[in-house]
Amino acid sequence: KSLELLDIQDKYETKSRIYTQIFRMAVDDAKGSTVKDVDGNIYIDWFSGISVLNLGHSNPIVIDAIQNQLNKIDHINEVPTEARVQFLKTLESTLPGKLRNNAKIMFTVTGGDACEAAVSLARYITKKKIIIAFSGSYHGIAGEIASATANYHYREYENLDYHNFYHLPYPYKYRFPIKVNDEDISKVVIDMLENILKDNYSGIGPVGGVLVEPIQGEGGYIVPPDDFLPMLREVTEKYSIPLIADEVQSGVGRTGKIWASEHWSITPDIMCISKSIGGGIPASMIAYKKEYDEFLPQGFHLGTYRGNPLALAAGNAILNYLQNSEILNRVQEKGKYIVERFNEMSYISNYIGDVRGKGFMIGVELVKDRKSKEPATDVAIQLKKKLFEKGLLMHTCGHYGNVMRFMAPLTIEDDLIDKGLEVFENSIKEIGN
Ligand code: PMP
Repeated sequence: KSLELLDIQDKYETKSRIYTQIFRMAVDDAKGSTVKDVDGNIYIDWFSGISVLNLGHSNPIVIDAIQNQLNKIDHINEVPTEARVQFLKTLESTLPGKLRNNAKIMFTVTGGDACEAAVSLARYITKKKIIIAFSGSYHGIAGEIASATANYHYREYENLDYHNFYHLPYPYKYRFPIKVNDEDISKVVIDMLENILKDNYSGIGPVGGVLVEPIQGEGGYIVPPDDFLPMLREVTEKYSIPLIADEVQSGVGRTGKIWASEHWSITPDIMCISKSIGGGIPASMIAYKKEYDEFLPQGFHLGTYRGNPLALAAGNAILNYLQNSEILNRVQEKGKYIVERFNEMSYISNYIGDVRGKGFMIGVELVKDRKSKEPATDVAIQLKKKLFEKGLLMHTCGHYGNVMRFMAPLTIEDDLIDKGLEVFENSIKEIGN
């Protein structure tokens, strides 16, 4: 039945799709951390709709919030509802550092749209156009923000020009492009940045903002060295450059804190939020320091679907749950256990080159040879297919598509973690090497 529906989909829908190449199923329903296809097969979900369902599928807390809101109002533009006001208050109470209870919120629609708004805001405030981003970054692909996303193919596909973004190397220990000691990597990146910020003759020109993923997502689930974000905060502050943290993927509890920035106690000037904040209903927003607000004109960065009431009701329930339950402690603890288990598997498979992560944002980088670190992209594809056949949904990331990524719902039961790890271990063993 699944294949029949996939065939019909192929007939009508664009062939540029990605996920249905591996996940050859049509879905009937999904609960918690499992997905059932139309043939009755049940899959363990380590995918979470690309980290959109941090509380799992159809969590009663989220469903209740959405249903209650739906019974009252489905869509209205800007006018406050109780849920919207409640959401604003709750969101502010979660924000990192100096943004807490001292920020302004601007609603947007998608993750890319939030990043686009953040960059526009930084430029508007500084009156400077150049934005520094990082290699491996992903911030969206529609319009100007495609230039912030490091993979140039997206710009090519959409026939876009480059728009004043420059990329420094992300402090990616496993594949840093310059030969330096691990403990010097952050300093090398920050020195390069400082050279650009202090000297208009660096060739790059006046910088209006620095855009960073506190933990890189699509680029390969890369955790920077502990000194990187504090140093980045310090140097951007020194030169009064807005620091934009893209928490679209790392936020809403994914890493064991509500925001990944909290792991290093940094306060960004602007923060991009999306994915799990709407519990499956599209939503995004930026939070930014209050002082910026006085400069903004009416009509800055508009959008019909901004602040959808259903999404905000869901977001309020989700943030409340993250704040008032023990779930984030569990995610931190379990995350360490999962990293340990993947590391143990490196004794049975030479393909495992590096394991890294925080909370439930864990990457397992596959290589053909540990010395040369040649990416094992083909093995990652083969493994994804095998996992799917054995009932585990797992996706990849990384510039070479060779990083297996663990992004299960934060609510996933212990036995589904262990069952998935067993499936992963058996599958990589079967592939050999
Ligand atoms: N920023 C980050 C860090 C992301 O991971 C993504 C999407 N994966 C985006 C921005 C873009 O979000 P969207 O696809 O909703 O536009």
